[in-house]
Amino acid sequence: MKILLIDDDPLVGEAITMTMKAHRHVVDYAENGQTGLDMVELESHDLILLDVELPRMDGMEVCQRLRSQGCTVPILMLTAHDTSAEIVRGLDAGADDYLAKPWDEDQLLARIRALTRRGRGGGTPSPVLTWGKLCLDPRSAKVSYGDQTLSLSPKEYALLELFLRNPQRFFSRDAIIDRLWTIDTPPSDKAVTNLVKDLRQRLKVGGMTEDWLETIHGMGYRLKPDPEPEPEPALTQDPQKREQWLRGKAQLAARFQSSLQQRLTDLDQAIQAVHANPDHPDPCHQAKTQAHRLLGALGTFGYKQEATLAREMEHLLAQNAPLTSQTLTQLYHYLTTLHQTLTPAPPTSPTPPSILLLDPDPTILQELQATQSAHSLELHPVPSWNALPEKTAFTPPQYILLNLDLIRDPEGLEHWQTLRQQYPDAQVLVLAERDDLADRVLASRVGCDRYIVKSVELPELSRILTQCFASDPPLCNRVMAVDDDEMALERLIHLLEPWGLQVTPVSDPQQFWDSLTRINPDLLLLDIEMPGFSGIDLCQVVRQDCHYSDLPILVITAHTDPQIMQQVFAAGADDLIQKPILGPELVTRTLSRVERVRLRRQLDQVQRQQTQQWQQQASIDALTQVANRYTFEAFLQQAWQRAEHIQEYISVIFCDIDRFKPYNDHYGHSTGDQCLRHIARLLSDCIRPQADQVARYGGEEFVITMPGTDLTGALKVAERIHQAITHLQLPHEGSAHGYVTLSMGISGTLPSPQKSFATLLDIADQELYAAKAKDGNTYCLRPYH
Ligand code: GH3
Ligand code: MG
Ligand code: MG
Ligand code: MG
Repeated sequence: MKILLIDDDPLVGEAITMTMKAHRHVVDYAENGQTGLDMVELESHDLILLDVELPRMDGMEVCQRLRSQGCTVPILMLTAHDTSAEIVRGLDAGADDYLAKPWDEDQLLARIRALTRRGRGGGTPSPVLTWGKLCLDPRSAKVSYGDQTLSLSPKEYALLELFLRNPQRFFSRDAIIDRLWTIDTPPSDKAVTNLVKDLRQRLKVGGMTEDWLETIHGMGYRLKPDPEPEPEPALTQDPQKREQWLRGKAQLAARFQSSLQQRLTDLDQAIQAVHANPDHPDPCHQAKTQAHRLLGALGTFGYKQEATLAREMEHLLAQNAPLTSQTLTQLYHYLTTLHQTLTPAPPTSPTPPSILLLDPDPTILQELQATQSAHSLELHPVPSWNALPEKTAFTPPQYILLNLDLIRDPEGLEHWQTLRQQYPDAQVLVLAERDDLADRVLASRVGCDRYIVKSVELPELSRILTQCFASDPPLCNRVMAVDDDEMALERLIHLLEPWGLQVTPVSDPQQFWDSLTRINPDLLLLDIEMPGFSGIDLCQVVRQDCHYSDLPILVITAHTDPQIMQQVFAAGADDLIQKPILGPELVTRTLSRVERVRLRRQLDQVQRQQTQQWQQQASIDALTQVANRYTFEAFLQQAWQRAEHIQEYISVIFCDIDRFKPYNDHYGHSTGDQCLRHIARLLSDCIRPQADQVARYGGEEFVITMPGTDLTGALKVAERIHQAITHLQLPHEGSAHGYVTLSMGISGTLPSPQKSFATLLDIADQELYAAKAKDGNTYCLRPYH
């Protein structure tokens, strides 16, 4: 399919293009409204994705013009506005559908599929039912496969229509009997089995080779996913492509991350301009545009909560000049919160995973040591059972890597069982020489969580381990069930809880919204007929709220009326389950929905971690793992601006290791490096981790930035550092003290427009030299007036 994308933010454009391409669409991209219009004239497209706020001509106008020129291509508006007025304006302008930022990818793809399906029928939903090349036209009751017309018996036809009309639905034999036979002539179950067999045969004779119907043994049948309109498998099935795509996405996300500070600074400056000139409408308008752009980009890259803040700012700025001081305070508050959540936190080192490696072969150990430089690991290599350390000698391992050969003899097995009892919670990764079924069985009998074939997976070991070490996948088991019938609720709980799902019943639909926001479920089960609000009402309400737009909803109903079923799906439900509830059907479908949500979240998490890792690599000093100079400068600049706004003190301390050159000369460079790491850790332990920052300024010099801290506070920190270094007693032959010492220069101030942070640093640096002049191992300070 060919799509025209019109959006003024190139990174957002790239992100959407990448997703569309991954789903085999061809994308033309226009950065403003006028270019978009020109492209529509030049090329023919199947769909237009249109941003609203655009330079040169906004989305509304583009839409109106296209429609007045007779263009019938479906238009999906991508709007950062969630107000109904805005949405109505979009639809009035001729858009077919809209999606409010932040949206998620699945939702965007589903909307596109729905719109283009509609498009094929020439504006009205196509009455023809299709599955791949199979086609059933209810108007003429004709069935064809490709060019071939098929002749079916009336019952076969009815059965096929039933499946095609309910592509998601699972039908038990009883349900099929209910639908296809009258009440007074019910046949046996066997008749259904035979009918299904006949229909399968009939389609096969007609040339259909695809396996179209899924049999769930002992339960019934369901139509398999249509091979035509679901292009996703190409992406998901080819792991290499998938990985490439994920990498591309993560890189894009990382680029977005690195542009974030600039975007925030732009907004920051725009707000300051409003502050300086609160009566003039122009600064206000510009700030609103900045907030809007930030909102759009945050939404696209999955920062939903932050996007909400940007949206609040946009709303406030939309009030136009003059803004009250209350509004300004509110704006600054949102801005500070955005800064805090989006500015990379000063790096903290998480506790490294501890690994017990039981393997006589050193290859894996070498591999892990290589990995260790990227991820810190606490490694305990144990080449034989005799070398097993005392239980108390190390932290209990989170992972045990076990060479399978070590447990082949009874003695080894006994050792293993003792060890396993000591660490029942550790994950066990079995390392095997061969890919052999008997070995796999042996491994699973000793409690293996992951079987790794050394020769095959060794090059990938570090990736596998990283995957294992990634924090546990998010738990996803909260189900909220809404039904006025308490008995039905009890039955749901009874059926679902054994599967690990936590069901919260809600019997009063009036309580629905309160319960939803409180429980924040992973899945919603809704009854239709309820007093006050129907399940369809509630379903629509959920879909209207951007926080819950992707919450899976299963509707449970006793209705069989196709019109009601249609309403249910139109209201945004994902699935429909017929009453009376069949246990296995409910369980399977609920679990599969929950599983899908869980997988998606896990994928998001992996992507976020990856992006974070990239970002950290760019902002952290590789040797000492504290912020680098670049990050320090950005941090100080922001902290200074903020301190100036809210009129609070800010202090800095320069720390320099005394006589470090002789240290290096005496102990060697690598011990020197070790010393730098010790000092970085020591300094990090002396500050407030959430508020202050330690950075490596260069060589053996560090700088500490402390927002909201006056000189008295800074002095306390310096004193703490001095005590810590004295306590540490790192031997240093070339020092008069016999151990490594530090000199510090301190300064602090209340920022004002006449002052600059460069001067603050200068003063601290001069004080550092004053301390050196006193032979080091001390600190000097001077305020910046
Ligand atoms: P002072 O007491 O006056 O501060 O003297 P100093 O020897 O500590 O300072 P000087 O600036 O003369 O030397 C700094 C030394 O720090 C020189 C260099 O070998 C060492 N250095 C800088 N970066 C690194 C590094 O990354 N690793 C190691 N091991 N040493 C480093
Ligand atoms: Mg825009
Ligand atoms: Mg020095
Ligand atoms: Mg120096």
